[in-house]
Amino acid sequence: MPIWNPRVETMSRVDLEQLQLERLQAVVNRIWDSVAFYRRRFEQGGLIPERIRSLDDLRLLPLTVKEDLRTGYPYDLFAVPLREVVRIHASSGTTGHPTVVGYTKNDLRHWRELVARVLSAGGMTKEDVIQIAFSYGLLTDAFGLHQGAEEIGASVIPMSGGAAEQQISIMQDFRTTALVGTPSYALQIAEALEEKGVARSSLHLRWGMFGAEPWSEPLRQRIESLLGISATDNYGISEVMGPGVSGECEEQKNGLHINEDHFLCEIIDPDSGEVLPPGQTGELVITTLTTEALPIIRYCTGDLTSLHLQPCPCGRTFARMARISGRTDDTFVIGGVKVFPSQIEEVLLQIEGIEPNYLVVVDRESGADTVQVQVEVPGALLTGDVRHLLRTQEILRQRLERALGLTIEVKLVEPRTIAGPRERKQKVIDRRKEVTP
Ligand SMILES: [Zn+2]
Repeated sequence: MPIWNPRVETMSRVDLEQLQLERLQAVVNRIWDSVAFYRRRFEQGGLIPERIRSLDDLRLLPLTVKEDLRTGYPYDLFAVPLREVVRIHASSGTTGHPTVVGYTKNDLRHWRELVARVLSAGGMTKEDVIQIAFSYGLLTDAFGLHQGAEEIGASVIPMSGGAAEQQISIMQDFRTTALVGTPSYALQIAEALEEKGVARSSLHLRWGMFGAEPWSEPLRQRIESLLGISATDNYGISEVMGPGVSGECEEQKNGLHINEDHFLCEIIDPDSGEVLPPGQTGELVITTLTTEALPIIRYCTGDLTSLHLQPCPCGRTFARMARISGRTDDTFVIGGVKVFPSQIEEVLLQIEGIEPNYLVVVDRESGADTVQVQVEVPGALLTGDVRHLLRTQEILRQRLERALGLTIEVKLVEPRTIAGPRERKQKVIDRRKEVTP
């Protein structure tokens, strides 16, 4: 697939690092001058902007966490006056205030360019008819992808979320070739196709790009085979722009190229805050290098991944991040064993007739930790032969226990009780954290 911006995306490492350093120094100066929150943080740590002389000095800078953005709600962390801001988005505020992000005209220009790069890497061209199945609203996904696709010159259908059946009718009538949304919603659409007996040949779909929640390799294969498409992954987080941070190239589908001229990425140990070397899994931390409205330094994303610098056959020189394996707040430790939600998803995908829609409830009963995995199963299974139902439950329990090395209770639930086109679904509820010690 053609590279959207070859001059930048195939830049040598030496040139890239020089550019990153110049931009880092500029952003540090800018927030020192115009964001009181950062000025205070720097002063508390005895830090002045001139101290940043190399990219390694990045680790001298303070970490920023979601709580800082909530405390600064809505505009305290903006580095420009509101009259310079031309767009405002926010993340969903499930607990406390949402986090607000603003964009200047230049920020929007960069956003379009970066999403165009990611979409091109995934395989999109101006010939495509792209159906955006993210909800249009305060969240960044729909608008971000929309603008990037228009930048490429594709025909954009701003479909939004809604019933899977409606998505399918539009796909048929408008001859949609590319679908973007969350992987769980793509799976829901694929299931609806099967339920309704819609032939895949009545669709023109050839490609999909999914994101906004962690998904595994087996789930990719399931979506690809059910929808008859090639599916790529992309990553973004609203606090540092939205979609456009990184995306997979179609050639490799092995790691997401990070737009490193705009974002400086590190991986830290989420417990100690120590920076980890390439290849090791930890929490992704992002520093924006060009953002004008809401520049952000060392933002702890809560997403678990690793960085890889090996050259890619596609020709892009930008580092790749592994697909997100989970959230720091979705991993849990039981009896010293650390469990990632992706391990559970992989087990579920190996069982015929089961979709990876699940919820883990971790609790403590009379001093002992318990793990319950709730799994959606087809309605026919719940109302059919009880012996068959119990056998499915038992197979699930055995396989999960073998994979995780833990005692597990399995509860089968009705379809659509867990899944849905929501932003960053929570996969784990840890009730032990709710109990006061
Ligand atoms: Zn590549």
